[in-house]
Amino acid sequence: MERAIDTYQAEPIPAAAQDAIEELLQSGDLFRYTASSDAPVALLEEEFAAQIGSKFALAVSSCSAAIFLALRALNLPHGARVLVPGFTFAAVPSSVIHANCTPVLCEVLSNYRICLADFEDKLASAEATVISHMRGHTSDMAAIMSLCDRQGIPIIEDAAHSLGSTWGGQNIGTIGKMGCFSFQSYKMINAGEGGMLISDDIDLIARAVIMSGAYEHNWKKHPVLAEAFAPIQNKLPLYNLRMSNLSATVIRPQIPLLSERSKRGLRNHDYFADKLTRSKYIDVPKPLDQEVRAPDSIQFNLVGLDDTAVLKFVRAAQRRGVPTEVFGLGEDNARAYWNWEFLDVIPDLPKTRDMLLRACDVRLPVRLDLADIDVLAENLLAAIAEATS
Ligand SMILES: *Cc1c(COP(=O)(O)O)cnc(C)c1O
Repeated sequence: MERAIDTYQAEPIPAAAQDAIEELLQSGDLFRYTASSDAPVALLEEEFAAQIGSKFALAVSSCSAAIFLALRALNLPHGARVLVPGFTFAAVPSSVIHANCTPVLCEVLSNYRICLADFEDKLASAEATVISHMRGHTSDMAAIMSLCDRQGIPIIEDAAHSLGSTWGGQNIGTIGKMGCFSFQSYKMINAGEGGMLISDDIDLIARAVIMSGAYEHNWKKHPVLAEAFAPIQNKLPLYNLRMSNLSATVIRPQIPLLSERSKRGLRNHDYFADKLTRSKYIDVPKPLDQEVRAPDSIQFNLVGLDDTAVLKFVRAAQRRGVPTEVFGLGEDNARAYWNWEFLDVIPDLPKTRDMLLRACDVRLPVRLDLADIDVLAENLLAAIAEATS
C-alpha cells in the first residue's frame, strides 16, 4: 500500500490563466509600463489591494525586493538598526543589509513566535522592525504593535508565508505600516517568482513605486497615487525590481482561489497535527487565540529525543518518503541563523537555537487530500517509533 506523496511539487497553474497567457504572448506586451492603462500588473495591484484590504499595492520581483523597498521608503539613516526575528529566511536579514541597515536579531520561542521580552529589550535601540511571520506563524501582534507604537517604530510585516492568515480578523500584512508578500512557487500563490508591497501610506508607496523602477513619467500609470509623485520625481534611485506582465497573468486567476486554498491548507494541517500528536515525542505548538492560519507546511517539535535520535528520525522519515528537515541540524539550512555568515556579528540566541535543533519542517501543499495526509502521518509515526525504539 506504499504510495509516494510528492510534497515538493508546487500548485498547478489554473487553466483560466492559460488563455490569458496565450493572448499576452501573442501581443508581446510583457513590460508593465508599455500600455497606458490596464496592464496585467496594474490590474493585479488593484485586485490584490482589494482582496487584502489595503489602499495601495505595488507588484515587484520578490518578497525580498518588497522588504528592501519598504526599508528604503522609510528613509532610515545609514546603518540604522532593524529588529528581525532570529527565526526567518536568510533573505530577510539580507534585505536589511542591502538597504544599508544593520539587522539585529531577537529571540524566537519554541512555539516559533517572537520572544516579547527580548523584542522589547532590543527595540530600545532599533529604528524599524521587520516582523517575519515565519512559516505563517503569527507572533503576538497586539503586544508588538503596542510596543512599537509607544516608541514610534515602524513595522514592516514579512507576510511572505501568511497570505490568507488573519489576526483578530485582520489580514496579516495589513497590521504594520507596510506588508510584503511572495509569489515564489512554495507560497500560497505560485508564479515562480514575484512579490507585493502593500500600505495605506501614500507617501511610502509613492517612494517605493519610483524606486521599484517607475522612471520618467511611468508613475502616471499608478493613477491612485498621482499627486504624491510630483515632489519626488528624479529624487530617488531606481532599483528596477518591477514585475512583468507574464507573472501578473499567472497570478491574477489564483487570487479568487485563495480562500479555498487557505481553508484546505488549514484542514490538512490540523488533521495532520491531530494524528502526529498521538505520539508523546511530537509537539505541535498551538496557534495564538487571535490567529487563523493558512498553512502549506507543518512544523513540530521533537520532545525528549537527543541529537542522535533526532537524526535517526529524520533519516527514517526520508527513507519512508516524507522529506523532513530539522531547521538547525542540516549543514546549510538558510533558516538557521548561525549559517548567516554574511552578518558582521552572529549573535547568541539560546532559545532560538534550542528550538531550531528540535523543530521539524514538512511541506504540506494544499493540493494534498486527507488520504495523502494519512500516508504521511503513518510514515512519520513509524519513523518516530523507529528512532525511539
Ligand atoms: C519565502 C519567504 C521569503 C522570501 O520570499 P521571496 O519572494 O523568495 O523573496 C521571505 N520571508 C519568508 C518568511 C518567506 O517564507
